[in-house]
Order: sequence, then C-alpha cells, then structure tokens
Amino acid sequence: MKMKAAIYTGIEEIAIREVERNEPPPGFVLVDTKQTGICGSDLHSYFGHWGQSHEHAAGHETCGVVTALGEGVTEFDIGDKVAVECFSHCGTCKYCETGQYNLCFNRAWISPNMHGGFAEYTATHHSGLFKLPKRMTFEQGALVEPLAVSHRAIARSGANSRDTVAIIGGGTIGQFALADAVAAGVKETLITVKYEQQAALAKTLGADHIVNISDTDVQDYVKDVTNGIGFDAVIETVGGAENFNTATTIVRKQGAVVLVAGYYKPLEVNLSTIVWSEAFITGSNCYGYSGMETDFEAAIELIDSGKVDATKLVTHYYPLDEISEAFRVSADKTSGAIKVHVCQE
Ligand SMILES: [Zn+2]
Ligand SMILES: [Zn+2]
Repeated sequence: MKMKAAIYTGIEEIAIREVERNEPPPGFVLVDTKQTGICGSDLHSYFGHWGQSHEHAAGHETCGVVTALGEGVTEFDIGDKVAVECFSHCGTCKYCETGQYNLCFNRAWISPNMHGGFAEYTATHHSGLFKLPKRMTFEQGALVEPLAVSHRAIARSGANSRDTVAIIGGGTIGQFALADAVAAGVKETLITVKYEQQAALAKTLGADHIVNISDTDVQDYVKDVTNGIGFDAVIETVGGAENFNTATTIVRKQGAVVLVAGYYKPLEVNLSTIVWSEAFITGSNCYGYSGMETDFEAAIELIDSGKVDATKLVTHYYPLDEISEAFRVSADKTSGAIKVHVCQE
C-alpha cells in the first residue's frame, strides 16, 4: 500500500513523496500518525549538520493510533492512542536490567529503516510505546516526548524545593525544563531567551527571571541577583562553546550543570572554571527512568493533570502537505515560532 512521507531532498529541502507503507515486522506496531512536532534535532538534519536520510521520513515527537500489530506484540491493541520514544531497547542487557534502558547496549532508532512521524504511518518498536489517556488530545500527545527530555534533565540536576535553577535557552527543551522545574516546586527559576515570543511564553510558565541575551549579560545578571553565588543547578539546552562557558560560570560552587543540547561538533571551552568551582557536569540522554517512574510516564502525568500546560508552546500548525513551509517557519525564529506541529487529523 502507498502513503505520503516527507523526505529530505537536500540542504534546507524537504518534500512529500509517495512511498511504500511499512507493514509492522515482528515486535513492531503500525501507528497512524496524527501530530508530530519539529524538533531542534530535525532542524540539525534539515541544515545538514547531521546526516539526512533521503529514503525515510524523520519525525520522532509523534503520537497517533495503533492500526496494526506485528507478530508477538501483546501489550497493545488496535485503537490505542500512543506516544513514541525515539529509540527501542532490548530489555535484557545490563543497562536495561538495571532500569537505565536509555543506555541500552542494543539501543536502536525506534523505526529502523522505516518511516517516522513525518509520514502517514510509522512502524515503531513496541519497547518505546506508551499508551495515552483517552481524553488526551493528539496535540498534547506529541508534546510528551520533548517534555520527557526536559523532565529528565531537571531530574538529573538533583534540584529540590530549596534549589535555584537556571535554564539556558528559550526553545522547546528550555521552556519545558522551566515548566517542569516550576511544577516540581523549585525555589527560583531563571531562563535565558533570544526572541520576544520566548520571553512572553516563559512569563506565562512562571519564570522568576527572564534574561534576554540580546540586551543583557547573563553572567553579570546572575552575579547581581545571587550576590555572586550563582545558581544551584544550570540546564544547558542550546549548544555551542559560549553557552557551555556561561553554564559553568553561572553555576554555584559544587552546583550541577546538565547538558541536554545538540552538540554536533567538538568545542573549545574553558575547563578551569570547573576545576575551581568543583561543579558537577553531566549529560542527559533522552529519557529513561527518573526515580520510580519513566520520564515518559511523568510527562504524560504532568500534561494530563494540567500541571504543565504543554500546548502553550505550539505556535504553528501545518498539514503534512505543507511540511516544507513548516520547516522553513520552524527554522526561522523571527517568524515567532517555538514549537511547530505537523498535523494529520
Ligand atoms: Zn527531539
Ligand atoms: Zn538493553
């Protein structure tokens, strides 16, 4: 059977193609995709920073309805509303057995050699699927994946209700990190932004400090508001040497820096600040378990309960046929874009 899929056709080019629909192999299910967000990592591919597939559709911030079950899949039914992790895991290696399944030895792309969410249907491995509550909208469902990323980053910082949290970057992951920190009840939050729409959104999400990097020096600002101490935790969501250096400078001594950005090339950075401050620097890799529950379960609960009003982030909606315009708008933040959704409802 044929279906439509959006395929990268060159640098800053993506187009709709007629392709063969994937039937789900053993262990996979077929999902009728309903809404899919354009992620910063999709833009890295769009710009050619990372490799582009010229054969298969990308799209990992996706949700939809199960329409067919591959052999051996018993925990899902046709008609289930689901959200999808971007990778599959084996369930039996050392890391899977200890609940660190995002570090699985046999981790693979959720739809290997198959189409992702920027196609009418995606075949996804059952290990990365989560059922959504019936009342959840597809728009909310597509936001589970990025919120899970931010939830893990906040969890990995170890921040508690007495801690102050600074977030570098006003894009989706930064805004969701802010929303997650506010929902968790941390003491004080700061977010750096570059565009008007990011500042306006951060305000509605409850940020205590919004620092626009185009007119304010972040390091001076933090020095002022913390009496030179710095923030207990810093979440770096943007990438680049300058942001790394800012993160390690505005964190307090022995504070935590969590890196959750797309680093697509090696950087020249200042490491002596870390020696002097004894700060802890760590990464945050997609999502897995944070405490007793998975980051996906936590994100579903945060959205379903209304603790995080996730759809506030979505600024633009396009049908699949207009995906090239959707990417253009998403890539150009002067368009007012934060999260752009590709819709197939
Ligand atoms: Zn993503
Ligand atoms: Zn494994």
